[in-house]
Amino acid sequence: MLPETLGGLAVAAGLLGLCVGSFLNVVIHRLPKMMEQDWQAQCAELRGEPPPDQGEALSLAKPRSRCPNCGHQITALENIPLVSYLLILKGKCSGCGTRISPRYPITELLTGLLSAFAAWHFGPTIQTVGALALLWALIALSAIDLDTQLLPDSITLPLLWLGLAFNLWTTFADLPTAVIGAMAGYLSLWSVFWLFKLATGKEGMGYGDFKLLAALGAWLGWQMLPAIILISSVVGAVVGIALIVAARHGRNVPIPFGPYLAAAGVIALFWGQRITQGYLGLIA
Ligand SMILES: [Zn+2]
Repeated sequence: MLPETLGGLAVAAGLLGLCVGSFLNVVIHRLPKMMEQDWQAQCAELRGEPPPDQGEALSLAKPRSRCPNCGHQITALENIPLVSYLLILKGKCSGCGTRISPRYPITELLTGLLSAFAAWHFGPTIQTVGALALLWALIALSAIDLDTQLLPDSITLPLLWLGLAFNLWTTFADLPTAVIGAMAGYLSLWSVFWLFKLATGKEGMGYGDFKLLAALGAWLGWQMLPAIILISSVVGAVVGIALIVAARHGRNVPIPFGPYLAAAGVIALFWGQRITQGYLGLIA
């Protein structure tokens, strides 16, 4: 394929990624709140109480985004990914001048860059379509886990099914490999969880982590699981020790594992084939 065409594809995917990143910001912000409203309603129902008054029902589409400080409704011009933050708003709410967190443009930029790279890496194939879906879900999951220490089932479970669906046509792995990957991904962390709990009496991770690794196994096949666990543990340990040394984290404060699994999943998506061939070569 001509490099210009591939470059054009990458630019198009990058622009699409910026817009999707803007939507992911909404998902990251609202999905945990929607889950909480749902739990409160269910608890009230179990206790036989009337449903709690939660004001305006929240969904991903409604209401339109507002400034959390002054309630100023974000206009279309203020909603252009990256451009609005940098050039129009200059990092401040146009209503009240409150600083807007740089995490919003950072999420948009990260989504744009990873999307462009996926298109560049996989070219005009079904793999690019799959890689984009996987990357976008992993970005949303990582940010929600960092914020709330939750990995919502409403993302992890559809992600697992979608991975199996793509692999009906051996997009990233053949179907038996993907099904075994989903099962082995869940069971491996589930076993670690129970061993750790029996040994220390503590819960080192959550069920969301098992489901996320099951999803990665479904997308990439069971052969990638050892590399994913190894990469995420090493990165997690390094960051965890750094945080404890910097004394910003107590030893017993849980550190979300989801972002490390997600990051390892991204590495395995792009370079997993080479990594596994490397260590299988070492064994053979
Ligand atoms: Zn404001």
